[in-house]
Amino acid sequence: MSPNGCPPSGSTPPGHAMYALAKRLFPICRSITGNGFRRSLEIIAEYIPGLKVFEVPSGTQVFDWTVPKEWNIRDAYVIDPSGKKIIDFKNSNLHVMGYSTPVDQKMSLDALQGHLYSLPEQPDAIPYITSYYKERWGICLSENQRRSLSSGEYHVVIDSELKPGSLTYGEVVIPGSSEKEIFISTYLCHPSMANDELSGPVVVTELIKYLFASSDKEKLRYTYRFVLIPETIGSITYLSRNLKQLQKNVIAGFNISCVGDNRCYSYLSSRAENTLADRAALHALKFTDPNFKRYSFLDRGSDERQYCAPGIDLPVCCITRSKINEYPEYHTSLDDLNLISSEGLQGSFDVILKAFRCIELNEYLKIKVLGEPQLGKRGMYPTISTKDTREQVEDMMNFIAYLDGRLSTLEIADKINTPLWSLEETIAKLKKHDLVESVASPLPSNIDNVVELNNTIKNIV
Ligand code: ZN
Repeated sequence: MSPNGCPPSGSTPPGHAMYALAKRLFPICRSITGNGFRRSLEIIAEYIPGLKVFEVPSGTQVFDWTVPKEWNIRDAYVIDPSGKKIIDFKNSNLHVMGYSTPVDQKMSLDALQGHLYSLPEQPDAIPYITSYYKERWGICLSENQRRSLSSGEYHVVIDSELKPGSLTYGEVVIPGSSEKEIFISTYLCHPSMANDELSGPVVVTELIKYLFASSDKEKLRYTYRFVLIPETIGSITYLSRNLKQLQKNVIAGFNISCVGDNRCYSYLSSRAENTLADRAALHALKFTDPNFKRYSFLDRGSDERQYCAPGIDLPVCCITRSKINEYPEYHTSLDDLNLISSEGLQGSFDVILKAFRCIELNEYLKIKVLGEPQLGKRGMYPTISTKDTREQVEDMMNFIAYLDGRLSTLEIADKINTPLWSLEETIAKLKKHDLVESVASPLPSNIDNVVELNNTIKNIV
């Protein structure tokens, strides 16, 4: 697997493929349940093998929650007093509050105002509003349009259906040599918005495609489990059905959302803060863009809330670009296909793949010789010296200098300030020449004894 995610020559570059998929999924009206979610999964299944679809009936108890009724919508519109259709669901599915109950009613502007939602601070934007757990209906519109409404009788039609059905989610497992897993979650429950959320599912689709292709050539070290779920109720439902398995096998996990714009990269830590997932994400981001933004678990807002909850305690952190809640277009009609780009999606794909690579390459190694190994006689030393080769030798010697089995390869790469994926060849050569042995877990180091001895001496002095 290439850490930079380069496509095989002749195929569509991943960034373009991801953008094209986002464009295809964009018009569908999705929600936490219903046919929009199913249709989106069906489309994604055309691109990847092995997508399993699960249906969980409404009313199922999932931890402290209950799977809600299923919501579907065919059409919605508002006719003004002059008989003109001024709001049309077919122009923007954001016009209808998610989970709106059906309505076909004539009413005054005053009565209608109680059901209207707009954003005075962003007068051009249609807000994204939902009401999953209290039955009501609502129409969302721009503040400018709202201000233009004159008094008179309005006709509101929402042709929706809210009744027992099921919650749908998708899962893909790519088996590796180990049953230990890397877990990746993304959500697919928003109507027409691009960064939050289509960027997550399209990057995940491309990652699945890529990992399947890689595992055909050479088995991956770890098993990869991907889930495409409705946010919150979906992660709670998934956890309630798979918790034991996840707790037994997941060594690192990532919640992927808002990965389509190219304004910045961001990281949000797991609750435990220093898991393998956190370290891999930080390492991958640091060597992609040192100016990436760091958020603490206190800034959480997506499914990491469930994955890191007390008693669940999965090692899940987030790699994102402009994070949820942190960009002006968030949850409005302005979060459209102009906000994301092939480059933005490609950058996220690359950085997530790098984080995976860090985990694949992470192990505890111990050098088998005393003193520096003589690399020249093994052909590991370049025979000509250039700036490039000098840097390579320096990285290799620094790496070897810390191989006492106490730090993992990822920790050493961090310490010597070199991307772990660039040390892959060095690690392979050290193994080939039988210069290192793998150790199962960190060894206690003689350095600890030295430090202890120094502290004792300091105290005596
Ligand atoms: Zn959202």
